[in-house]
Amino acid sequence: MVKIYDISVLKGDGIGPEVTEATVRVLDAVQKVSNFKLNYLYSEAGAHCIAEYGTNLPKETVEVIKKTVACLKGPMTTPEEPGAPVSVAVTLRRMFGLYANVRPCKSFPNVESLKPDIDLVVVRENTEGLYSGQEALIAPGVSVAFRIITTEASLRVAEYAFKLAMQRKKHLTYIHKGNILRITDGVFKDAVKEVQKRYPEVTVDDLHIDAATMQLIKQPAIYDVMVTTNLFGDILSDEAAQVTGSLGLAAGANIGETYGMFEPVHGSAPKYTGLNRVNPIATILAGAMMLDYLGEKEAAKKIEDAVVAVLVEGKVRTADLGGKATTSDMTLAIVEKIK
Ligand code: NAD
Repeated sequence: MVKIYDISVLKGDGIGPEVTEATVRVLDAVQKVSNFKLNYLYSEAGAHCIAEYGTNLPKETVEVIKKTVACLKGPMTTPEEPGAPVSVAVTLRRMFGLYANVRPCKSFPNVESLKPDIDLVVVRENTEGLYSGQEALIAPGVSVAFRIITTEASLRVAEYAFKLAMQRKKHLTYIHKGNILRITDGVFKDAVKEVQKRYPEVTVDDLHIDAATMQLIKQPAIYDVMVTTNLFGDILSDEAAQVTGSLGLAAGANIGETYGMFEPVHGSAPKYTGLNRVNPIATILAGAMMLDYLGEKEAAKKIEDAVVAVLVEGKVRTADLGGKATTSDMTLAIVEKIK
């Protein structure tokens, strides 16, 4: 019997529609050689909705998402003025309890990277920390932000990271700033150590965030799974993506108990909107992560293999990879490999 999965698709802003449509083309190609069907439910979210709906996440969209098993999300523009709606990604992560942000960073063939042989995953706590959204101007010129770190959320994300390490190289590095943030990172560190007791096979070490950003440049190949709090993870995963070559190749998953949302690590890159110029691979690999999450591992691997094959050949390269190929050229090349 053919399995059918209802998938929410949010194209987003800026380059979002281009890279999301490219991914749908690749997902369509892989379905033709697999035994499952994706039923795409498109809805609107992002900065472009604000004028019409007064919000970047209309309630109709949330209702559609609730009917689906996973979401493919394009990047969205987040207005920065005080009082503007909170980022859609942050709202959805909290709303659907997507507590683990999983960002694999791998060296790709034929892609110039700072150091060779990188194969690591940054697991970032996704629901609290400095993204609690609780900020206040307590007096003129004096502002505070709440960095909320709970044992519950820390245990949950640590558990996810240890499980992942067990499937990989069994090495976990937890990252914090416990020498300064003694209470909040103390809670995080204690939670990691608690979970560690159940995974004696995993080699565990830790780094301060400042040292970690340096180590990622100096010797990224020694790391396997890096787990950390929300803001540190955001910074580290962007850095790791760039160390491996390009933000245009980095995909991310947001995983909860019952739902998964998949998106590129990069943003909406507004200056490239509609130019058919950016690299769609990050979103395409996010699509592959979605299939893996759904249990369609063979199909996920087909997409990854097709991406690697195109990069190995090196004929089709977008501008970020030093070439002149368009978004459509890259998409077509990957589709051809899947066929
Ligand atoms: P960005 O990731 O959009 O772009 C930074 C630069 O990275 C671009 O100028 C471009 O040179 C490069 N780049 C990004 N994507 C690329 C691709 N697919 N191929 C090739 N090069 C690529 O970051 P930004 O300019 O800081 O943010 C723009 C907007 O995106 C902001 O509103 C920000 O809030 C938002 N954002 C959204 C998400 C999300 O939706 N999850 C994530 C990050 C940023």
